[in-house]
Amino acid sequence: MPGQCRRASSSVLRKRFKVGILTVPDLSHDALRAFAREIMVSLGSNDDEATCVANHLVDSNLKGHDSHGIGMLPTYVDLVAAGLARPNQPLRVVNDFGATLTFEGNRGFGQRIGRDAIDAGIERARTTGAAVVALRNSSHLGRIGTYGEQTVRAGYASVHFVNVADHAALQAVHGAREARLGTNPFCAAVPCQEDVEDDRWVVLDMATSNIALGKARVARNKGVFLDDGCMIDGDGKPTNDPRPMVDDKIGALLPFGGHKGSGLAIVCELLAGGLTGGTSIQPENRRHGGIVNNMLSIIISPSALGQTSLILNEINAVQDWVKAAAVAPGYDSVLVPGEPEKIAKGYRLEHGIPIDDETYRELRLAGEKAGMPAASVNAHLN
Ligand code: NAD
Repeated sequence: MPGQCRRASSSVLRKRFKVGILTVPDLSHDALRAFAREIMVSLGSNDDEATCVANHLVDSNLKGHDSHGIGMLPTYVDLVAAGLARPNQPLRVVNDFGATLTFEGNRGFGQRIGRDAIDAGIERARTTGAAVVALRNSSHLGRIGTYGEQTVRAGYASVHFVNVADHAALQAVHGAREARLGTNPFCAAVPCQEDVEDDRWVVLDMATSNIALGKARVARNKGVFLDDGCMIDGDGKPTNDPRPMVDDKIGALLPFGGHKGSGLAIVCELLAGGLTGGTSIQPENRRHGGIVNNMLSIIISPSALGQTSLILNEINAVQDWVKAAAVAPGYDSVLVPGEPEKIAKGYRLEHGIPIDDETYRELRLAGEKAGMPAASVNAHLN
């Protein structure tokens, strides 16, 4: 995409810093789901949480976001061992006031905590027309588009602002040569007309940095350099090498779109880390480490705003109009946000999920560390 770093995954033919040919055969989503579920159970998660986290991770892989897929499991194993992510945390209500709900996540597994918080917000919006959900101090929430998809499946639109706290800053704001923020993702989700195929919803889901940190991790594991414009080194100079940032948090990721992406990243910090009453990335809030996500979500019922059929009809018509634009040279088609994920899912369901050698090694090790029997690891990953 113009003005964006190309995906690391599309750069495998580019210069490598090590020989990292993929030798692991693509794995089926079912095998990866079973593996992820078993690791989560070994870490202490109950069935519901283990299944929720496993599905979230593997669906991220299916949708092309390996950065937020099964490759996160080794980090989760280490976080649980250090007491920085906690299985089976109840979602605690801190405030319940009209259309607003505030929850404390207490470093519970974000995929399950986030799902439950959004479910509660959807339930509230059924009676209030719209709901604001402030989720504080969850452990890693994963792919934020998952929560947008959750609302559109229920027929609701939503926007989500997320920050990353108790973690080293990773992203430089516009004009700075050192990191001050996390990769602070933003998501907006718009439902589609009920009587057309049910996946015509639009979900824009993105890090406010040019690439998510996980994409630098995937590039490091594959042994490829990043494209220009993604990163600066410890001296503030442009670099393409993901290793210092991924391994030692040296340097900074750059915001997308200059001052505009940087502005959105700052707004995510203020709304998710400030307005929720959760934690911002300020150094005085750095206490334990790990990954803490805070999220401010606004969930809106179309029927509270007008005649649903007219509203959704207009939403579909806009999509048709945009997608019918003449295709620019170098592109196959015009897509709306969320479509690349649907295309990737169709392909990977059929052909399997590629796992690079380093991630494969890390996954096996994570299984061992979590206490999975070697026979189980082999059964799922071979
Ligand atoms: P990305 O750049 O791959 O995609 C961003 C958005 O652009 C998506 O909505 C996608 O559908 C859309 N898009 C991509 N190509 C398109 C095209 N050709 N035409 C139209 N639309 C297109 O995503 P990213 O910024 O690398 O983020 C990856 C993931 O990382 C996201 O799921 C995000 O939620 C997650 N993330 C999570 C955290 C966290 O702390 N939990 C932090 C940062 C990022």
